[in-house]
Amino acid sequence: MSAAAVARDTGARLAAADAAGLNATLYWSQELLDAEARRVEALPADSSLHGMPIALKDNIVTTDAPTTCASRILAGYVSPYEATAVTRLRGAGAMVAAKANMDEFAMGSSTEHSAFGRVVHPLDPSRVPGGSSGGSAALVAAGVVPAALGSETGGSVRQPASFCGVVGVKPSYGRVSRFGLVAFGSSLDCISVFGRTVDDAARVLAAMSGHDPLDRTTLDRPSMRRPEPRRDLRGLRIGLPREYFPADLHPGVAAGMERARRATRELGAELVDVSLPHSAFAVPTYYIVAPAEAAANLARYDGVRYGPRRIGAAGGIQALYQATRGEGFGPEVQRRILIGTYVLSAGYYDAYYRKAQRVRKLIADDFRRAFTGGVDLLLTPTTPTPAFRAGEKTGDPVAMYLADVFVCAISLAGLPALSLPVGRSEGLPVGAQLIGPFFEDEAMLAAAAALERALGADAEVR
Ligand code: GLN
Repeated sequence: MSAAAVARDTGARLAAADAAGLNATLYWSQELLDAEARRVEALPADSSLHGMPIALKDNIVTTDAPTTCASRILAGYVSPYEATAVTRLRGAGAMVAAKANMDEFAMGSSTEHSAFGRVVHPLDPSRVPGGSSGGSAALVAAGVVPAALGSETGGSVRQPASFCGVVGVKPSYGRVSRFGLVAFGSSLDCISVFGRTVDDAARVLAAMSGHDPLDRTTLDRPSMRRPEPRRDLRGLRIGLPREYFPADLHPGVAAGMERARRATRELGAELVDVSLPHSAFAVPTYYIVAPAEAAANLARYDGVRYGPRRIGAAGGIQALYQATRGEGFGPEVQRRILIGTYVLSAGYYDAYYRKAQRVRKLIADDFRRAFTGGVDLLLTPTTPTPAFRAGEKTGDPVAMYLADVFVCAISLAGLPALSLPVGRSEGLPVGAQLIGPFFEDEAMLAAAAALERALGADAEVR
């Protein structure tokens, strides 16, 4: 197909998804798609992503579409510059297809915290697609686009990938530039990828990775290559951290993991028992560190630098801030700013923020010990349950936060990890998580490809 034909076909798929009520996009237009096709047709036909339509989570900026972070405070905002990751993907021949719905400012695990309505799970409309990158996950799962960018601060690509039955890859921190990713928790944020296959996701990741002088936290090491998929796992030692297999794991997830474990052994890997004791503190640690950084990063939405300038009743700068932020931010974002401000304030800083930073190091040290102790990769469930029902957790923030119990330690440690579909439980996808040592993204992806071939995604596990 020509890029022009792909652009028309993608437009038809996006329109069908809208008509089906998925609510997965916040912006797309046939004009933008057609312009992308014209641009791509001028590039060499052998560019690595030639004509591949890709959706972007709406916290990744481009100059030709609005970026709202699914927040009223940024409604209609168009960036004057483009994210480095997008520039690189476009240079490799990809076409930006749409901006995807998300939890407001990427805070959430169900995409119910979008100011513009929840995203519907493509396989069961009563359920959530996960979050915060739920729109991107749903677009890939529904077959609208072959790949999409999301962002991870604490699991926001792996968790929705698991819920939607697609591949979700979070690279090592420092692998992909954050320039043009709207900041949430700067020490955690990673642009990450959804694909229908490991190889698709790996191609996209390889095209956008590498040092960027505009983001000093990107490492100045050779860019990632698209790894050669492994056919087996012979010679690999794969660790099963016992803390990630609790007795009360959902039976469908447990059955999916049993299937993954068996396939891993049949492919020739040696399975070993390991312990990551401090992962038990990952959720409380994450929910101090991430809100603290968010409170600092979101100070710029004040009605002066960003946001509609709402003049408060009493006038004055304080009233302007209050009116703008009070109206512009939804309840979850306000809660995070309050928590973050609290844990950073004089008198509480040592008790909460500093302590969380110390626990973060202990969590990362557990992983380092496992990997230097001779384990090549770790295998865990991605989520404790398959996709939950809409409304099930919106009244209980802590229940929502616990959806991240298996993913957020990895974010605190800065490691590469991915979620891979391993089967279905009562029709709903179940995902397994592979975790690699720092900057071993390629080895992790190569192993995941072998597991993917052995498993297929659609087997009923219970
Ligand atoms: N669900 C987590 C949160 O609400 C993770 C979000 C993310 O990774 N962006 O903060």
